[in-house]
Amino acid sequence: MTPPKTSNRKPKMLPFTIRDFERMFPDDATCLEWMKDWLYPNGIFCVPCKRITKHHRITTRMSYSCDFCGHHVYPMAGTLTEKTRTPLRLWFYAIYLMSATRCGISAKQIQRETGVTYKTAWRMFKQIRTMLNDETPLGGVGEKVEMDEASIGSFTTRKYKVPNPRATVFGMVERHGRVKAVVAADRKMTTLKPVIKEYVLPRSVVFTDDFPSYDDLNPNWYKHRRINHSAGVYVMGSKHTQTIEGFWSLIKNSLTGVYHSVSHKYLQSYLNEFSFRYNHRHDTKPMFVSFLEQIASSRPSLPPVSEGNTSSANQSDRAA
Ligand SMILES: [Zn+2]
Repeated sequence: MTPPKTSNRKPKMLPFTIRDFERMFPDDATCLEWMKDWLYPNGIFCVPCKRITKHHRITTRMSYSCDFCGHHVYPMAGTLTEKTRTPLRLWFYAIYLMSATRCGISAKQIQRETGVTYKTAWRMFKQIRTMLNDETPLGGVGEKVEMDEASIGSFTTRKYKVPNPRATVFGMVERHGRVKAVVAADRKMTTLKPVIKEYVLPRSVVFTDDFPSYDDLNPNWYKHRRINHSAGVYVMGSKHTQTIEGFWSLIKNSLTGVYHSVSHKYLQSYLNEFSFRYNHRHDTKPMFVSFLEQIASSRPSLPPVSEGNTSSANQSDRAA
C-alpha cells in the first residue's frame, strides 16, 4: 500500500474581496472599532483610573471615553486621520485598494472611484506609504542576503517636466525572505557600508557582484560571496544576485507602468510600499489586514506635539 501523498505547498493567503470590505467596514464607526479592538485586545487601560475600564464611543469624535472618569482615548491618534477631514472609511478604502494590487495603484484610481480631489487622493496614498516603512534588520547567522544597487528613472519634476538624473537605490534581500530598499546618495563604498551595517545582521552570508564598492566588507562581520558580472557570469551554483534583481525589475515595471514618473523626494515612500507587499507575500492573513496592522502599530508612542511646541520647532527650523 502506498502512503498518502503529503503536500509541501505552503498555505495560501486568505482572500479579501471588495464584498468582504463592504461587509466588515460599512462606515467610520466599524473602522474605528477595528482599530480600537486591535490596539486594545484586552480592553482600554485608563491612565487616570490606573486600570482597564469600560469605555463607550463618543459619536461626535474619533474617541472612546472612560465610563468612570470620562478620560478620552483616540485610537487613530498619530496615524492617518490626524490633520485631515477625510472620513476614516475612505482611508480604509484607500488602504484596501493599495493592498489589493501587486504593482501599485495610482491616485487617479481612487479619485475616479470615490470622487475625492486628486490632491486628497495623492496625499492619502503618500501618507499610507510613509507608514509602511519597516526598519527590522535582515539576515543573521548563516542567512543568505543578496545586495545590489540600481538606477531608477527617468524622473520628471512636477514643475518643469524635465528629466532628473536617475536616482540610485540600494537593496538588500534575504533569499526566500524579506527585502529592504533605500534611496542612496551614490554608489560609493562610504555611502553603502553604513547602510549595510544598519540593515544586515552580522554573520550573514552576503552575495554581491564585483562592483568595487563591495571590496571592503568587513570579513569579521560577513561571509562575502561575489559573482563576476563584469565577466558576464550571473549564476554559479548558489552564487547569484537574481533575487534582488527580480525585485528591481518589479519596481521598475510598476513605476513606469502605474505611476509614470516619481520625484526623488517621494521615491523612498514608493520603495516602502513595494517592500512591504513583498515582505508579506507569504502571509496567510489577507494583505489588507497586514497593511492595517502595520499602520496601527506604527503609531508614535509620544503624545502629539502641542501648538506651543510646534511654533518653537518652526522657529528652530528657520534658525537652522
Ligand atoms: Zn478612567
